[in-house]
Amino acid sequence: MAEKKKAKQIAIYGKGGIGKSTTTSNISAALARDGLKVMQVGCDPKSDSTNTLRDGRYIPTVLDTMREKTTLRADEIVHKGFGGVYCVEAGGPAPGVGCAGRGIITAVQQLKQLKVYDDLDLDVVIYDVLGDVVCGGFAVPIREGIAEHVFTVSSADFMAIYAANNLFKGIQKYSNSGGALLGGVIGNSVNAPYARHLLDDFAERTGTQILEYVPRSVTVTQSELQGKTTIEAFPESEQAGVYRRLARRIYEHSVSKVPTPLEIKDLRLWAAGWADQLLALETGEVRTAAASI
Ligand code: ADP
Ligand code: MG
Repeated sequence: MAEKKKAKQIAIYGKGGIGKSTTTSNISAALARDGLKVMQVGCDPKSDSTNTLRDGRYIPTVLDTMREKTTLRADEIVHKGFGGVYCVEAGGPAPGVGCAGRGIITAVQQLKQLKVYDDLDLDVVIYDVLGDVVCGGFAVPIREGIAEHVFTVSSADFMAIYAANNLFKGIQKYSNSGGALLGGVIGNSVNAPYARHLLDDFAERTGTQILEYVPRSVTVTQSELQGKTTIEAFPESEQAGVYRRLARRIYEHSVSKVPTPLEIKDLRLWAAGWADQLLALETGEVRTAAASI
């Protein structure tokens, strides 16, 4: 019997609302269109990770399904979406009760128990994980080495960079005990030149790389309003081209590293330095930025 291929396991982290699910779903859709077998696991209690792969519809989460039944079938938690992407939503506890990270642990256990990873003969599994909560549950894909490569979505906003830096600390912490390593940063909503410079500089300081700069685009908004990814709704658009390039880079990426996060006081100093530079750039670049928003 031919040996089973090992799926590439990727986790995408980032601050809430930064564009993780949008970016992840477009990556999944692009890879599926390239003929790969892809599974996307939403690991955010919002449980909306895979909506744009399923015409804007929610799927039952693993935790919700488990509340109703003790034994599950794979087809109750794995739902096919655009291009044949297998969609899973881990789910979360009722608001205000329990640990939000538990959904991830439980979902991964269930997928393993039901042999979903083996039976589907996947090429890629992408975990879409909330990144601004410092909680053990959310670290599971990193800590347990479930994912091999971690990517973070960040804009040039300080809070997004702050969340990315915290993630780097988590990766560094578990790197000696078989944890996942960092593949790089996906710049999202990066239109202005200063935003690129800022992210480039952050990546250099923390020993990582920027994989792609994804512009903020009304095409993404239009796609979302149709309940679709940009790859599905506007495959010929420039934005779809950016997502396809990003998807290939991520799929071809092979060597991840331990990042060098900044201490909080150094991150503050770094940010303050940029504040001065932005003031100095008051004309030119900063104006361009304001005009493009
Ligand atoms: P997260 O999963 O990180 O919480 P989402 O992917 O749900 O964030 O994105 C939040 C909002 O931002 C969505 O309405 C999405 O359409 C929008 N968005 C994300 N990236 C872009 C982009 N590059 N251009 C335009 N809108 C975007
Ligand atoms: Mg999301």
